[in-house]
Parts: sequence; structure tokens; C-alpha cells
Amino acid sequence: MSEHSKNLNFNTLTIHGGQKPDAAYGSVMPPIYQTSTYAQTEPGGHKGFEYSRSGNPTRTALENSIAAIEGGNYGMAFGSGLAAIDAVIKMLKPGDEVVSTNDLYGGTYRLFRTIFEPLGIKFHFMAMEDADSIAEMVNERTRLIWVETPTNPMMNINDIERISGIARKHNALLVVDNTFATPYLQRPLDMGADIVMHSATKYLGGHSDVVLGLLAVKDKALADKLYYIQNSSGAVCGPMDSFLVLRGIKTLHVRMQRHCENGREIAHFLKNHPKVDKVYWPGFEDHPNHAIAKKQMKDFGGMISFTVKSGTLAETVKVVSKLRVFTLAESLGGVESLAGHPASMTHASIPKEEREKTGVVDSLIRLSVGIEDIDDLKNDLDQALNA
Ligand SMILES: *Cc1c(COP(=O)(O)O)cnc(C)c1O
Repeated sequence: MSEHSKNLNFNTLTIHGGQKPDAAYGSVMPPIYQTSTYAQTEPGGHKGFEYSRSGNPTRTALENSIAAIEGGNYGMAFGSGLAAIDAVIKMLKPGDEVVSTNDLYGGTYRLFRTIFEPLGIKFHFMAMEDADSIAEMVNERTRLIWVETPTNPMMNINDIERISGIARKHNALLVVDNTFATPYLQRPLDMGADIVMHSATKYLGGHSDVVLGLLAVKDKALADKLYYIQNSSGAVCGPMDSFLVLRGIKTLHVRMQRHCENGREIAHFLKNHPKVDKVYWPGFEDHPNHAIAKKQMKDFGGMISFTVKSGTLAETVKVVSKLRVFTLAESLGGVESLAGHPASMTHASIPKEEREKTGVVDSLIRLSVGIEDIDDLKNDLDQALNA
């Protein structure tokens, strides 16, 4: 990352962080270098790029951007969020152990449980709201602590700073999946995390038009290890997708501001709605982890979950199917509002018993509140709940 980026504020970093005009023609946005290889004048005589798995200038521009906005020194871009997670876990060896949030993105859980566990890595899943209880799960084989906050879909908040203290004490790395919060709301590296991970498919891309994953780190040795895996395993993203996420990041701060405003309105609207039972949103003062959220987040985001009163599976499915402005779809973080039914969609790969323990019951609906007109969003929820 260029030195001048270090002194800039977040709303400037999203636009300029780690960026410079293209050397060839001064193009303000980095060109989409749609090439697999680069001409050499003699063996080894190149301008820093040899082959696009190892490096591509458009991807590099995105990697510099994520490093800048997360307050890191190095960034790495992958073909999906899961490919980024896959690269992190590949630093481990059979016999190593990971302590992870239990209320976890379903795909991450599946990757841990069905791909890496058979290869000899052991995962412990636990509620992390009480940071002290994590220390009891950590032993001399623990290499990594994996944290999501806010968690998906229950919106629990885990104390990054406290957990980083535990990780440090036990020589384990702390990884934070920052997909839900984005660096607009919280910057885990500043709070002691070693690696920040993103599904840029969500808020960073922001327009539901690309699948991509990112990592950001401060430490050079850690960056070298991850770069070695990125290049050796090869799960990189293409230049067009890199460009799209880079463009998305430029408006991250203005989109997030509106996501938060709309999220706040919808959370209160649902809380007062007669057909709604529980509302999970960290901005409520009676949210069990509200104090931590206030401490580590700038605002409370646009993700909200709620349960339908006496909602059977059939009734809940009816509510989500009646929505008109909200689109029933997996994913989140785009400009358009989405609604999901975790039990049958994003979390279907987690066994029913396991997911109900964490609160993912049949009556639960998850909203990704977009940046549309707030009245249209409220009216839509109202008509679907009353249908
Ligand atoms: C979507 C998501 C992922 C996985 O990312 P992909 O880009 O879909 O591979 C990981 N973590 C969270 C919190 C997500 O929402």
C-alpha cells in the first residue's frame, strides 16, 4: 500500500486507498487487464507481472484497496469468500485445532466440517459472546480462532479486542470474517485481529453482480504464507470481477450510511409490529451484546433477523413469498433489499438440531435491508406480514 494512504480518513480511503492513476495513459480507474500473461524482454525481464494466477494489475489494485480500507498492509483476492477461507485454513496441518463461532455462515461450517475435518483438522464450535469461555476451549494445539461478528443470522456480537487478547496469549491467530460489518463499521486489524476475511460478494461489491473473496493482513510473514497458498492453490479471481469490486468499494461509505439508516427504521418498525415476535438487531439497547456493539462498531448495519409470531414453517414461507420490494434470495449486502429464510436456504446444510440450538428456527426470517425508499420497504413488510 502506498505511504500516503496511511494518513487518509476512511471516506477517502474507499476511493483512493492504495490507488494511483494507470501508468500507461493516466486512466483514473485501473484498466481491466484481461490477459493471462505478460511479454518479457529477456527471461525475467518483466514489469512485475509474469502470469495472471501469480499477479494481475487489476487484481493488485483491488488487493491494495482492501489493505488500505481495513488498515492492513497486504491484501489478497480470491474467486469467492469461501476460496479465501479455504486459503486461510490451508495454513494448518493435521492435528491442529480451530475454535470457531457456532452461529456461522453455513458455507463456512460446511467447508470446516466436511472438507477440512476429514483431513485431520479439528474444529470446536461455540458461542463467543462470553469471551472468557473461549479460553477454556483453547489448548496447545489451537492454531486459530475464527470469529464472525455480527453473527449470521442471529446478530450476536463478539468482542474482537477481548478475543484477540486470548488468541495472543495462546499463540493462535485471530481471523475475523468482516463480511456483515465491513470496515465502515469496524476494523478488526485495529482491534488485534491477524487476518480479516470478506465475502466481497456482499457489501464490498454491493451490487449483487459478482462473487469474490478478500483477505487483509498487517504482518509480512503472514502475507507471504497466504500469498504462497493463493498462488499455489490458484483460487484467484479474474480482472473483470476485481474491477467490479473495486468500483463497489468506492461507494461503500455512502451505501453503508443508508443501509444503517434504513436498518434502524426497519428494526423499530418490526419491533412494534403485532405479527412479529422477536427482532435481532444489535442497535437495540436490550440486545444482550449491545454494549460491545457500541464499543466496536460505528453503527449497527443493515442486517436484521426476526421471527414471525406463532410462525409455522408454512406460515413463514408464506410471508417471505408475499414480499414484493424485498427479493427472496440468498446473499446480502447489495443495494436492493433481500429477504431469506435461513432454515431452508443459507443454513440448510447445518443439521436441524444444531441450527435450532443457535436460534435458527423455522419462523426466522433474515433481512438484508437495502438502500431503497424507507416507506416502500415498510409497506412491503407490512403487507406480507398481514397477508
Ligand atoms: C457469503 C458469505 C461467505 C462466503 O462467501 P462467498 O463469496 O459466497 O464464497 C462467508 N461468510 C459470510 C459471513 C458470508 O455472508
